[in-house]
Amino acid sequence: RAKSLGRDRFCYFSEELQNVVDNRFAIERQLKRALDDHALEVFYQPKHNLITGALAGAEGLVRLRAEDGTIIPPDNFIPLAEETGLIHPLGEQVLDQCCAAASRWLKQGSPVKVGVNIAALQFSNSGFFDTVTRALKKYDLPAELLELEVTESALMHDFDETRNILQKLSDIGVSISLDDFGTGYSSLSYLRFFPLGVLKVDRSFVKDMLSDGQARSIVDAIIHLARSMHLELVAEGIETKAQLDALRDLGCQEGQGYYYSKPLPVAEFESRYVNMADATYCARLQLVDSH
Ligand code: C2E
Ligand code: MG
Ligand code: MG
Ligand code: MG
Repeated sequence: RAKSLGRDRFCYFSEELQNVVDNRFAIERQLKRALDDHALEVFYQPKHNLITGALAGAEGLVRLRAEDGTIIPPDNFIPLAEETGLIHPLGEQVLDQCCAAASRWLKQGSPVKVGVNIAALQFSNSGFFDTVTRALKKYDLPAELLELEVTESALMHDFDETRNILQKLSDIGVSISLDDFGTGYSSLSYLRFFPLGVLKVDRSFVKDMLSDGQARSIVDAIIHLARSMHLELVAEGIETKAQLDALRDLGCQEGQGYYYSKPLPVAEFESRYVNMADATYCARLQLVDSH
């Protein structure tokens, strides 16, 4: 640490940087504690059918609660978890919670497919396939109700090994979605090489599509691409009715975003979307009935 070098040294290591380092250690300590206590929280954001408004699934998003009760968002600790290897226990605990939740919802009469974000490094763990099948078995959850969200950078790691694992998962019924599609070092060859079922249009395109013709063209192209490749399409980050309408006009089927709901603590998600008394869920049942 710079402090131990003495205060009067030329300060390469500024106070600001020191704060960053301190903060990093604080987050790492709190993350370790949360893992030890199995106290990580998972919030759930609903995915909706854009035509009917019906619930189409949920995405699990991890949250770390700091000592002072505030919530630390994943962008502030996932990279650190990846650097320290803590991503492995973290990933397992999130997967466990998501499978438990989806299984509980199913038993309450509401089959909600749950999406779990998977970091690149989790694939490098040769036991990943077994981790997933164990979690499904533990909660007696049909594989069809589990979706794994991977990013393009996750796929870039070890092509053949990653494809093998994803193929095995896909073979048992787990769906694989490509998250943040269109950002990063996208290569369309991924769409052929990996057994994908879902594309998630990155929220940056949705954000700009009303003001920027190019963003709109990209969304349009992704929608056509998905359709002709028989992939499901989910738009991320829908915040306004105007964005929803534009996406619907272009033929996008599903989406999520603050327009519908922010990610919710599990109890709140359940009371709004799973509980039979809930209006949204009743609307959905009527839709199913009328088919
Ligand atoms: P992501 O998987 O692309 O998740 C979508 C992010 O967009 C979430 O941020 C969500 O809260 C946010 N979001 C949803 N709708 C809107 C909207 O309408 N407007 C805006 N501005 N944002 C919206 P969050 O929860 O902070 O997560 C950030 C990222 O952290 C995720 O991006 C994912 O890459 C990663 N992450 C979250 N949970 C996990 C996890 O359990 N494991 C791993 N490996 N990564 C995770
Ligand atoms: Mg995601
Ligand atoms: Mg995303
Ligand atoms: Mg993201």
